[in-house]
Amino acid sequence: MTLANLRTHYTADIVPEKVKDGATVTLAGWVHEVRDLGGICFVVLRDREGRAQVTLVKKKIDRELFKAARKLVRESVISVTGSVKFEEKAPNGYELIPEKIKVLNLAASPLPMDTTGKVEAELDTRLDSRFIDLRRAEALAVFKIRHQVLQAIRKFLVEKGFLETATPKIVATATEGGTALFPITYFDREAFLNQSPQLFKQILMSGGFDRVFEIGPIFRAEEHDTRRHLNEATSIDIEVSFADHFDVMEILENLVAYTYTQVLENCKSSLEILGVELKVPQTPFKKLSYEEVLEIVNSRSDEKMQWGDDLSSQAEHLIGQYVFETTGESHYFIIDWPTEIKPFYAMPYEDKPKYSKSFDMMHRTMELSSGAQRIHLPELLKSRIESQGMDPEGFDFYLKTFEYGMPPHAGWGMGCERFVMTMLGAENIRDTVLFPRDRRRLSP
Ligand code: ATP
Ligand code: MG
Repeated sequence: MTLANLRTHYTADIVPEKVKDGATVTLAGWVHEVRDLGGICFVVLRDREGRAQVTLVKKKIDRELFKAARKLVRESVISVTGSVKFEEKAPNGYELIPEKIKVLNLAASPLPMDTTGKVEAELDTRLDSRFIDLRRAEALAVFKIRHQVLQAIRKFLVEKGFLETATPKIVATATEGGTALFPITYFDREAFLNQSPQLFKQILMSGGFDRVFEIGPIFRAEEHDTRRHLNEATSIDIEVSFADHFDVMEILENLVAYTYTQVLENCKSSLEILGVELKVPQTPFKKLSYEEVLEIVNSRSDEKMQWGDDLSSQAEHLIGQYVFETTGESHYFIIDWPTEIKPFYAMPYEDKPKYSKSFDMMHRTMELSSGAQRIHLPELLKSRIESQGMDPEGFDFYLKTFEYGMPPHAGWGMGCERFVMTMLGAENIRDTVLFPRDRRRLSP
């Protein structure tokens, strides 16, 4: 790889296969640490790919250079030109004997927070100084894995013939009713930030796009401040023509397993930094019907669940535990939900319309994805919108597309952050997004 003019190599690229012993290289990065032992001084330089030890022996090196190295301020940005000395005992198998150290930008001190991981900072403190928090190896590891997750998903879906699409985030109508929306001013009109690409994905089915996916932001004015809700999240959405809910469940479980495999293969050092041992989920995932879930919850807990209730978080924990105990797996589906508690576009079973061709994909303690076969028949769709207390007129742009040749179709949406969070066992969803938006946080 050719890097810019200011440096020749990443720290991690200094390996005997690529660089000769004694070769002159220029590394650039941050002053991670300065250890001054009197007669010898070690400067640890950190870049995105790792760390390098710069070794200065007082007796063997220019006096001015030695003096300057001792005085380097932590987290300043420097470049170091020097010769490579492979040394098994050194931290990454080599040290750099400097000829020149340039301070490119001096860091102020004290730092707003520690970057070495020696001092545990509160989540809020970390997020307030996110630019510096992201310099921690653990934070970077999370985002390298998130990157790999998204790459894997794209690769998987593209290979299956999906087209990547982008639908509007500024919309005139709520997707699933008026709740949980952020209103905005759109010239002289009211508009909203979209909470889901749902309606547009469906319109693309009528457009003959056959199978589409989108990875994009969703905005939800969630009422609660929880560890698994954000107000701006990233949704991974697919929609498939001539498919039912079982078809798209199969795509989903295979995509989850594939993504785990890719992360295992390509993110070894990041997983190690985080202390995460990934186990690739076994497919097919267990499917429990809503009816079965009801039974299990009611036989195992004092909290009674009625038909038509959504799952409480206690119920989610209980079922997650049940599935884990009986299968050793964390992922599972809950299928055949009551039509009345699923969005209006979920297709009811023809022979038992109380139930819908819908599913949630779960991981132990939380929902990762919701999906369904969708209604493709305009009259049924209109009556479902009405029975959920909404006005079909507001959905004109959407309903129209069902009148002129809409194929049967199915799809799902999965939260990227929850997927990464459960994969890594993160305590809080905020750790899986660079600059989280929550009830209290709008900056940075
Ligand atoms: P929940 O009931 O857990 O709040 P939901 O059923 O409202 O989720 P859906 O509308 O089904 O969410 O959205 C599909 C997926 O998008 C969810 O399973 C979740 O992974 C993700 N998601 C939805 N809302 C949020 C949010 N506020 N923050 C993070 N991820 C979200
Ligand atoms: Mg849902």
